Amino acid sequence: MSAVKKALELMKAEDVEYVDVRFTDPRGKLQHVTLVVDLIDEDFFEEGFMFDGSSIAGWKSIDQSDMKLIPDATSVYIDPFYAEKTMCVHCNVVEPDTNEPYTRDPRSTAEKAEAYLKSSGIGDSFFCGPEAEFFIFDDVRYSVTPHKVSYQVDAEAAAWNTDAEIEGGNLAHRANFKGGYFPVNPVDEAADLRGEMLSTMKRIGMKVDKHHHEVATCQHELGMIFGTLTEQADNIQKYKYVIHNVAAAYGKTVTFMPKPIKGDNGSGMHVNMSIWKDGKPLFAGDKYADLSQEALYFIGGILKHAKALNALTNPTTNSYKRLIPGFEAPVLRAYSARNRSGCVRIPWTESPKAKRVEARFPDPAANPYLAFSALLMAGLDGIKNKIDPGAPSDKDLYDLPPEELAEIPTVCGSLREALTELEADMDFLLAGDVFTKDQIEGYIALKWEEVYAFEHTPHPVEYQMYYSC
Ligand code: GLU
Ligand code: MG
Ligand code: MG
Repeated sequence: MSAVKKALELMKAEDVEYVDVRFTDPRGKLQHVTLVVDLIDEDFFEEGFMFDGSSIAGWKSIDQSDMKLIPDATSVYIDPFYAEKTMCVHCNVVEPDTNEPYTRDPRSTAEKAEAYLKSSGIGDSFFCGPEAEFFIFDDVRYSVTPHKVSYQVDAEAAAWNTDAEIEGGNLAHRANFKGGYFPVNPVDEAADLRGEMLSTMKRIGMKVDKHHHEVATCQHELGMIFGTLTEQADNIQKYKYVIHNVAAAYGKTVTFMPKPIKGDNGSGMHVNMSIWKDGKPLFAGDKYADLSQEALYFIGGILKHAKALNALTNPTTNSYKRLIPGFEAPVLRAYSARNRSGCVRIPWTESPKAKRVEARFPDPAANPYLAFSALLMAGLDGIKNKIDPGAPSDKDLYDLPPEELAEIPTVCGSLREALTELEADMDFLLAGDVFTKDQIEGYIALKWEEVYAFEHTPHPVEYQMYYSC
């Protein structure tokens, strides 16, 4: 049965009242319009739905605002939160007159990247396994619970002070400032909340495998099973949607910003990646860490283009507060099977099928469609041009003597730097028209606005440091 027929059958079987059409803007935010079910038939899936694209930052101007959404029938799921029964569908944005993909539509870019991989002859599937970390805090609007000490106070105190510690007496079963990583509940206060998040994901058809507390105070991670590029980018959008909504239902709030707390680990979105060809894993071989030569070249491409990639994988001014030494986030453009301090790690596995490389610098503020596509394009550039990644760095990179450390190149130190790097190094993204120049320029312009907003605003820390000068 075709995907459209299946979607229509699901709609009937579930007695759906509304269909929520969803798409992603350049910054990575999921947007939606909710349609009455009476409008939905086979034609809807083929012909799509007109909307005003000028209200989306970085897209069209008001005089050319008509745009069209084409639903992808394979992506439907029943929304777990609406009171009225609602079916969701992820859409591509196309030009209304030609039905060609709109060049600034991130989901179309992801599909083009997958098609480019196939047309290159290098492989036919790109698998990614993203690991998006996040923080849960109390929502100040519901600040009646005595338990709030471990959330709200942390976030605010820790954001401003160097020595963020919870003050005051016996915390009983509540975690101390750094006490949440791995002890069982009730120290791990959010175990049930994470469980509900994961079960909700399972109910909407996502393949998930685990949940756990992370290293920082109030920091968590849920595990998804790997999948293909566009599918996984859709899944990250669902992951965030479910997490935000379950948290909201319990009077909590979640942030995926990369570094919400000073002096503690930030949130990464490591991306595990592998290419398959003719049903066989291309990255398994007999070179370093049982990788193939193609996998090493892929790593070479990632390391070469890492600074330009940063603009897409680490797309906020806050991202660069995470990419500093000492918090398990990478700074150095190096790779290793052992340590976690480089940009690329090769996780240990005996199975050639599970052989993969992990990019550790991306963070969960990234637009997943653009970030995964850009990582694939950098890796493919490495394979096509046989880019040597150099020797692996198996020592703890932060224990190296300063003169050796100084020789290892780094990732970007600011969004300003990353945008400048992307301006100078975008050809690898333009191959096969996967990204377009117009799209990248539009994205860069949008991101410069954020750099200026940040750089032009006096910071509270500046008041602390300079007010009395
Ligand atoms: N939170 C760390 C980061 O910023 C990663 C911790 C881990 O290895 O899971 O990337
Ligand atoms: Mg983690
Ligand atoms: Mg990881």
